[in-house]
Amino acid sequence: MKILIAEDEPSLRENLQWMLEMEGYTVLAACDGRDAFAQACESLPDLVITDVMMPHLDGYGLVKALRERESTATTPIIMLSAKADRGDIRAGMNLGADDYITKPYRREELLAAISSRLARKAMLDEAALRLRAQASQGQQHDALTNLAGKEQFDKRVAAALEGCSGTSSVVSVVCLGMDGFSKVNDSLGKTVGDWVLREVAKRLSEHIVQTDDSHNVIARLGGDTFAACLTGAYDHEALDQKAAELLSLLAMPYLVDGNSLFLTACAGASIYPLHTNTAHTLLLNAESALHHAKSCSPGTYRLFDAAMNRQVARKLQIHNALHQALEHDEMQVYYQPQVRIKTGALAGFEALLRWQHPTLGWISPAEFISVAEESGVIVRLGEWVMRTAAAQAVEWLALGHSEFRVAVNLSVRQFAGNGLPALVQQVLRDTGLPAHMLELEVTESLALQSVASTLSTLHECKALGVKLAMDDFGTGYSSLAYLKRYPLDALKIDQSFVRNITEDAGDAAITQAIVAMAHSFGMSVIAEGVETTEQLEFLRTLGCEEFQGYLFSRPVAAQEAVGCFSGYRG
Ligand code: C2E
Ligand code: CA
Ligand code: CA
Repeated sequence: MKILIAEDEPSLRENLQWMLEMEGYTVLAACDGRDAFAQACESLPDLVITDVMMPHLDGYGLVKALRERESTATTPIIMLSAKADRGDIRAGMNLGADDYITKPYRREELLAAISSRLARKAMLDEAALRLRAQASQGQQHDALTNLAGKEQFDKRVAAALEGCSGTSSVVSVVCLGMDGFSKVNDSLGKTVGDWVLREVAKRLSEHIVQTDDSHNVIARLGGDTFAACLTGAYDHEALDQKAAELLSLLAMPYLVDGNSLFLTACAGASIYPLHTNTAHTLLLNAESALHHAKSCSPGTYRLFDAAMNRQVARKLQIHNALHQALEHDEMQVYYQPQVRIKTGALAGFEALLRWQHPTLGWISPAEFISVAEESGVIVRLGEWVMRTAAAQAVEWLALGHSEFRVAVNLSVRQFAGNGLPALVQQVLRDTGLPAHMLELEVTESLALQSVASTLSTLHECKALGVKLAMDDFGTGYSSLAYLKRYPLDALKIDQSFVRNITEDAGDAAITQAIVAMAHSFGMSVIAEGVETTEQLEFLRTLGCEEFQGYLFSRPVAAQEAVGCFSGYRG
């Protein structure tokens, strides 16, 4: 056992060292707090004995510094001091010392304190080891709920399939996931969260009979996901009903500290032999059905179907292919003209990504952008689009075309880390595009991000001289309060309103209100998805400034876009 002594008085230090070495301890000696801290970090002693009054760093400072480091956070510390007043003791203990012994100490007293602290430490270390071992084994058995863990569940499902092979029995796996469970943990604390999970386990266990001959088994797969293996004659309808029972069971209020907590769960299920004949894929299918249920709405149940797997597989393919799309030169930027409604003159272009994969063919941004956002590739893609579009605009300027904007779409992911203003500045510098010719389109979901940092990023971009537009306005979390705070030049009315503007009085009214509001904030309005002259006329009467849509042109490649400079002649 290694003990570190921090003591500035040489004779006391040597005495103590000698005494401890006689007891068989390995001793490190430090002559002040700073020296002690350095030695403690380097050689990680099993225990530290420290004087209180020392030069450079006193005993309190040493305790505090040691407690702040992960490697020494739990090292036992005994403080040793002539000053025995209660305030000192409390101060030391508050900082995290384990014991306080007054000088002059009795030899036995100090040795007893040391061995009891070391014994305690050994016990804690062992407990930590055991916990870690259990966590890695947790797959076998779930310590929190006492249910089976994932590994055990896999084995039991395999046994169930074996048990009914050659018979006409079916085996179903139902996966259950609590809706919005992270909110419970975040707002009510982990203790309540754990209690809820145990309660879920209890309800499931009371409802589903688990006997060895039935092969029924319930497991917690991790987090708030549970699974049940059900045997017996479950056809579609019986399973539908069973799932509904389970969901209403889990939707019963949870009584927490006298209050009712209302939660719901989603479920997904898969049936053997209908959907698969292996235990592994039976569970995977049920999980994928749960995933789909969750993406629908809280409290949903979905039975697996093969299309779910195809969707997952396609998403995975896209995910993998996206990583190399830029390097392999598979991406292009298309340009869709934006036109002034009053004059028909060209106002600018929106840059839109196009991807042609060698084997998968054309893939729509509607499909790949969300995957790129999930994986983070969107950051590189977005940067590339900005550079390409800016360089293209400079080329058009050089051909003698008068001023126009190019608008690029920004993903919320590009706002993380505050590198955006620097990127914009770099792109403008590298391409030579005048700042006012670049427009950044942001979406309302940005308002859900950390408000303070996005606001300052937007202001920084704005200060560079670029234009800012709010895309897809009206579809998201539209709040006038935040809109006013953002330094926006324009609002883009979402195509979903424009589509029905001439038939649906509600959409017409919303559009009218959006235009009026934008104008009152000093922003201009651009309508997207304009496909008919009727829509255009209506927008004209509302005082909308610009439009974009198939009526004038689809997004087209740069060579073709040049033709749009002559403007719209309706
Ligand atoms: P968005 O920003 O709302 O872009 C407008 C979408 O509407 C484009 O779809 C465009 O082709 C389509 N559109 C334009 N006019 C009409 C019309 O008259 N009728 C109809 N029905 N549709 C019209 P696209 O190119 O498929 O892009 C879909 C979405 O993908 C975009 O929606 C945007 O959110 C995202 N996206 C595209 N390129 C990028 C990009 O470079 N970066 C980021 N972050 N997102 C992009
Ligand atoms: Ca856009
Ligand atoms: Ca849009």
